[in-house]
Amino acid sequence: MRHGRVYFMGDSAKVVSPFGARGGNTGIADADNLAWKLTAVLKGRAAPALLDSYNEERHEAAQQNVMVTNRTARFLRPGSPVEKTFRTAALGLARQHAFARQFVNTGRMAVANPYTRSSACERSGGQSVQNVAFQWADGTPGRVNDLLRWADGRLLVLVFGATSPAALQRLGGLAETAPVRAVQVLGPTEPAGALEHVRDPKGHLQGACHVFGHAWALVRPDSYVAATGESVDASLVHAVGHALGAALQEDEE
Ligand SMILES: Cc1cc2nc3c(=O)[nH]c(=O)nc-3n(C[C@H](O)[C@H](O)[C@H](O)COP(=O)(O)OP(=O)(O)OC[C@H]3O[C@@H](n4cnc5c(N)ncnc54)[C@H](O)[C@@H]3O)c2cc1C
Repeated sequence: MRHGRVYFMGDSAKVVSPFGARGGNTGIADADNLAWKLTAVLKGRAAPALLDSYNEERHEAAQQNVMVTNRTARFLRPGSPVEKTFRTAALGLARQHAFARQFVNTGRMAVANPYTRSSACERSGGQSVQNVAFQWADGTPGRVNDLLRWADGRLLVLVFGATSPAALQRLGGLAETAPVRAVQVLGPTEPAGALEHVRDPKGHLQGACHVFGHAWALVRPDSYVAATGESVDASLVHAVGHALGAALQEDEE
């Protein structure tokens, strides 16, 4: 989806069957993926090599979406006698048996495709974060999208639960030297440390996505998780560099 300085997105990059609302939705996801990377590179916050991850991530998504929508199209208009037999059997069974209704494929709705082979996401990352609710430190309600706006194009580090003063100091230092904003996500009674913090009285943030069982999550401006980790140490610093294309550049050299 990248040819030199030309990037393809939306229907110019791929065309999917119009079942499951995947064409327009994934076109917007393409733009969401590329926009923050271009901005970061143009502002000198990320290495140009980060732009290669656009194709890695969105080409994988395009392949998934073409496969899923093609399956629906072939269920609706079988392409072979075998597919027609399968459809007839599925429809017949579905009238009487609930288990067979999952085989009636009139469209699988668009999803935030996971990235499993991106060189800008660590193995622990690549999933989209849901726009779940929390409370700002002053008690006003907020959502993850508000946090991303607050991060203003930088990476967002979510640190979960009580954290040692040394780790908080390290995070403060990281936020001064890298394009990162860090926020501590606390339960209703946990004491706040020397860092911006939000309250999570209903376990929304921890429960929203399985990655939030970890000590920290590094979230990108397109609301994908770049990496998660078990402690605030050098692994976080490495993950920040990786998410900004630094490791990609080193690999190329
Ligand atoms: C029947 C149907 C139902 C659909 N339903 C859904 C749905 O429910 N949900 C969903 O998410 N998606 C749906 N889609 C898919 C969705 O409409 C497309 O994926 C989406 O519109 C693609 O957007 P795009 O901006 O990439 O391309 P386009 O919408 O095709 O925009 C390209 C634009 O470029 C212009 N253009 C072309 N050549 C030039 C040129 N040389 N110079 C200047 N301008 C040019 C065109 O006029 C056009 O305005 C559906 C598609 C169909 C056909």
